[in-house]
Amino acid sequence: MIVVSGVTGRLGMKAARDALRAGGSALDAVEAGIRQVELNAQDHSVGLGGYPNILGEVQLDAGIMDGSNRAVGAVAALRGFAHPISVARQVMIRLPHVFLVGAGAERFAAEIAAERSDLLTPEAKQAWLDRLNQYAGVRPEELPTHPDLVTLVWRALNERQRGGTIDFLALDAAGNLCAGVSTSGCAWKYPGRVGDSPICGAGYYADNRGGAAACTGVGEVAIRAGTARTVSLLLQLGYSVAEAGARAMQDLALPGAGRGSIDLLVLDPQGHAAGFATDPGQFLVITPEMDEPEERERVTVSAPPNSREYE
Ligand code: ASP
Repeated sequence: MIVVSGVTGRLGMKAARDALRAGGSALDAVEAGIRQVELNAQDHSVGLGGYPNILGEVQLDAGIMDGSNRAVGAVAALRGFAHPISVARQVMIRLPHVFLVGAGAERFAAEIAAERSDLLTPEAKQAWLDRLNQYAGVRPEELPTHPDLVTLVWRALNERQRGGTIDFLALDAAGNLCAGVSTSGCAWKYPGRVGDSPICGAGYYADNRGGAAACTGVGEVAIRAGTARTVSLLLQLGYSVAEAGARAMQDLALPGAGRGSIDLLVLDPQGHAAGFATDPGQFLVITPEMDEPEERERVTVSAPPNSREYE
């Protein structure tokens, strides 16, 4: 049994471990861990306090996958709810669908009485106003009828903050894997933009036959490369976590992938974990026997050519 997350998952690692200690499944552990991070208003890439889109609306994306049967639940562009990861899991459980977006996702969340939340904190709102003023050169009252949001988004994204989507992977006592992701996505995005995080196969994947993987970073790249599914399939073909992750990172060298790159977490059914990143960094692991999460180094893989012009 083991739980893996990025360093911004520290807040949720003990909750995830406790879920496993209590006999919970990998899905329980992933959901419990991510819920803690979604409540952290200081984390501007996830849930409460997440940076909004160009119009000042916080739109959340999340997805979760059960490696035992490859069941999936996901939501995207969800506004006004505290725990998109839990709404995503309920999509998996209650509906004959795997993915809800926008108004439909919000209707579903209301129908299941998911916890509501005013996600735009004063701090995030101020950061948005500053960004509009300094980079986009526009006043908020001009936005509803502005004819060229495309240009404003390009200006706002320039020198954008590095993202911090939260990914959790877990392996439970029954040998089942789970991958889950939750994010407010790319700050100052075009309304309705969806990144890799809620897209099964791009931002996350779990399959007991191979392994689990999840991504953070520039989602447009992971969508194009199908990164998480690539890792899982390579594991199924017999590659180690180190080889599968490195190959998937190399596969991110896409023509014109000019908006940064991807960090990756990998976990196989034997509990071998690995992390990869384009800059030096760490990831976290915890097992039911451990009091505190352990920090491990990510393998650094150079960014693909031309990948950094907007970081
Ligand atoms: N991958 C996320 C997205 O593209 C953002 C991030 O990880 O920072 O929406």
